[in-house]
Amino acid sequence: MNIVGYSKALYTTWIYYSPERILFDAGECVSTLMNNKVYAIKHIFLSHGHVDHISGLWSLINTRNNAMGDRGKDLNIYYPKGNKGIEEYLNFIRKVNSDLRFNLKVFPIEDGEEIILRNSNQNKKFVKAFKVKHTQSEKSFGYHIFEERKRLKEEFRNLSQEDITKLARTYGSDYITEKYNSKILTFSGDTYLLNKTEVEDTEILIHECTFLNKEDRKYENHATIEDIVELVKGTKVKKLILYHISGRYSRKIDKIISEYKNEIGEIELYYVKPDKIFKL
Ligand SMILES: [Zn+2]
Ligand SMILES: [Zn+2]
Repeated sequence: MNIVGYSKALYTTWIYYSPERILFDAGECVSTLMNNKVYAIKHIFLSHGHVDHISGLWSLINTRNNAMGDRGKDLNIYYPKGNKGIEEYLNFIRKVNSDLRFNLKVFPIEDGEEIILRNSNQNKKFVKAFKVKHTQSEKSFGYHIFEERKRLKEEFRNLSQEDITKLARTYGSDYITEKYNSKILTFSGDTYLLNKTEVEDTEILIHECTFLNKEDRKYENHATIEDIVELVKGTKVKKLILYHISGRYSRKIDKIISEYKNEIGEIELYYVKPDKIFKL
């Protein structure tokens, strides 16, 4: 698993998840910092139309069209359906880049819609959009990545390993196992604190954390570290990555966040420092 990102509230945000070649949001300097890796991107999921999340898209498309790299691959862009700002911006990009040498596909998507990333017998993965609470005028989404996995059926979980092996030999492994969708990653987008139901069973939670001090938040459109730490307690989250942190905390960020580390026990805590490339 590899995650690369850059994020500073109000200025820019983009997070690249390489196993699935997904870029979440496309703020400024995404193509500058990703360099020729822009050709690796297959899907771009836009959370909403605020400029710090989309301003790098034009440059990314232009770079991919003109730099040295493979233009044979499609680029798919997904965004909340009905988001006028994004629609007009994408139309503009298409207009000024009318000679695109690669296939640019744009998909407006609905709340709850699932987008298949891969679907083979062994490996099914998909992204699911969910609506989040941000500003009044802006339709905003977060995104989950799901992977289909197998587990032992409930009624067999108390059996000994020996009995399970016997059953599997007699009836086949499909008899004792069931498929389920495991939430492997959640990207919050810009939002007030996410609901517990969205995050309790995810493995990697990438949550926006604009405010490191609750008193600095004036409206209910962004999250604070205090609330996020409370949210993840008792969940299955293994890795928590905070991003979209305000630049006002740049100097004391390590100190503030270290104070929360003990509170979340086993969960690994990471954060995207404003003005610094994040790599995991
Ligand atoms: Zn933002
Ligand atoms: Zn925003």
